[in-house]
Amino acid sequence: MIRWAAKTDVGKKREHNEDNLLSLPDAGVFIVADGVGGRAAGEVASASCVATFEERAPELSAELGRFAADRSGERRNAVLAALDFTCQLATRRIFEQAEAEERKGMTTTLVVVLIGGGAAFVGHVGDSRAYLFRDGEVRQLTEDHSMVNELVRSGKMTWAEARASRHRHVITRAIGLYPTVQPSLGSFDLLPGDRLLLCSDGLSDVVAPERMLQIVSAWEPGGATDQLVQAALDRGGPDNITVQLIEPLGSPRTDEAVVRARTLEHLFLFEDMPYAARLQVARIMVEHWFSPGDVLVSEGEMGDSMYVVTEGEVAVTAGGVTLARLHQNEHFGELTLTDRLPRSATVAAVTFGSAVSISADALRDFCMMEPGLGNQLLWKLLQVLGHRLRAANARLVGDETQELEPLDE
Ligand code: MN
Repeated sequence: MIRWAAKTDVGKKREHNEDNLLSLPDAGVFIVADGVGGRAAGEVASASCVATFEERAPELSAELGRFAADRSGERRNAVLAALDFTCQLATRRIFEQAEAEERKGMTTTLVVVLIGGGAAFVGHVGDSRAYLFRDGEVRQLTEDHSMVNELVRSGKMTWAEARASRHRHVITRAIGLYPTVQPSLGSFDLLPGDRLLLCSDGLSDVVAPERMLQIVSAWEPGGATDQLVQAALDRGGPDNITVQLIEPLGSPRTDEAVVRARTLEHLFLFEDMPYAARLQVARIMVEHWFSPGDVLVSEGEMGDSMYVVTEGEVAVTAGGVTLARLHQNEHFGELTLTDRLPRSATVAAVTFGSAVSISADALRDFCMMEPGLGNQLLWKLLQVLGHRLRAANARLVGDETQELEPLDE
């Protein structure tokens, strides 16, 4: 079951409401679309996008059902692929409509959330946003595809400058701009009490996340959406305002699932990464479950993945000698991402537990698709390898010092 409420308002300055929304709680499909284009073309674009998602809802829902029955990485990716396909369909239709009806430049943003199998799947194009409210905190799940956001990310602009910029509404990706589109996609496991907010920039431009948190935390059905819209109107309501609040209820979650979700949140790879970025990186990670004695990688075998232990204990051995025991958030196999040489050690499970892996191919594809995030991830890995190298050097130097010490005396 899903509790939800939605509201859209023209605001105080615009004549038309070019935003659109779709709420299909039975299918688990929720979207907000903010249309762009003169002479009411924006309304046409956002309505067309909504219509495409409505039409495809049965397929999306069926894919969610298959994921709920078999929560494998493969099924998770199949949901994301169905979501991507629907985005492509929506963009192609609007692009062709714009060409045919001489409404060139008619486009729309999109933020979509699919809920099913105890997980949320988030997709977005442009600057409409999704937020997650969890543990009394607010996290932005999407990173705007906007010019100012990209300038901030590349260090050419500060957040203060971005907020004041005349160009803050210029988006770099849109549904309908070209025949194909590159949506940002990600998924995460839901925890009890999670609430999600989808909104157009008419809200996020003028209402601070902290204020959203206050309102959403005190949510009574319907009341919070009214209050969120009112908060934007109180700040002048310069744009159309659309909000949609979603609270998945009663997804039966085991304690292990909660532990795993929290562990993934605190993975070292994700340090300093915005939450939105973590969702996307999580997409290329494969989960493994192990029992005592299970061999994760074997000495001498060709490897192409690095692993991070998310739960339990594993032992690293080479030539029959135990080199180390690794626990939560410790990792192995990073070097095979770069050299694809045989493994130098065997790693076997000591206890029951789990690990996540990232393969060299997945990492390379990800870096091509999302260069900004790919860079962040590679930088993190470089730091890890650097630490390892320094530690190894220190050990070598340490050994030499021991030999030299008698001379000093
Ligand atoms: Mn807008």
